[in-house]
Amino acid sequence: MFEIYSLISGSSGNASLVTNGKVHILIDCGTSGKRAFELIQSTGISPESISAVLVTHEHSDHTKGVGIVARRLRLPVYATAGTHAAMDIGRLDDGSRIVIRPGTELEIGGIGVLPFSIPHDAAEPCGYSFFFGNTKLTVATDIGRVTDELMDNIKGSRSIILESNHDIDMLRFCEYPYPLKQRILSDIGHLSNEAAAETALELVRSGTKHIMLGHLSDKNNMPEIAKMEAYNKLTDNGVKIDEDVTLQVAGRYSVTRFSRSGEYGQPRHI
Ligand SMILES: [Zn+2]
Ligand SMILES: [Zn+2]
Repeated sequence: MFEIYSLISGSSGNASLVTNGKVHILIDCGTSGKRAFELIQSTGISPESISAVLVTHEHSDHTKGVGIVARRLRLPVYATAGTHAAMDIGRLDDGSRIVIRPGTELEIGGIGVLPFSIPHDAAEPCGYSFFFGNTKLTVATDIGRVTDELMDNIKGSRSIILESNHDIDMLRFCEYPYPLKQRILSDIGHLSNEAAAETALELVRSGTKHIMLGHLSDKNNMPEIAKMEAYNKLTDNGVKIDEDVTLQVAGRYSVTRFSRSGEYGQPRHI
């Protein structure tokens, strides 16, 4: 088994966990240390057995608990140089900050890790793909837009957590101040449901079997709307949901595991 769990997902906090059954890697930790431990435990994985924490970028919805968890579990923290410099996670043991470079693959306990650049308004943000056997898994959120380069990095993933942040009309008509709306809508902001749906279609054409929409805005989106947008885009283009691809939305506050319908029997949720 080689799997990603979304622990929490949304503008209120993000964390996920990649495991091959033996080696477990935490990606981001945008919640309290206590809550992070509870979430990890609820997947059946012991927090003490985690090997590393990877950080995508310094925003607090991704880093709130990184320092606490890393200190408690004595974990190495992997991030780009820009993210290390910009994130506020307190002191770490000497040698536990590991600098990674987008485009340069590394290995953690036999799992290949490839960080890739994402367009987002942070110091040096990245997404991550993971490789084990012939399988590629990806976490790609906080994306202003899907560039050709980004598409090249995420295509061919068997499973992906893909940002589907906002409904454009809900965002346009909401009470956010104009500059914030502009920031979210910009090329270095967040991915709309519409853009996520387009991307989902390209991913399915590249062989993706499992799509989990994540990082939904709590003000300008709803799980049903995000899912419907992608569902319509896929089915309008002849994709059979649950047969060709499974489509899910990551829970905001609870663990979501990828559905295995059509592959390993009925989907199972935690
Ligand atoms: Zn961000
Ligand atoms: Zn974020």
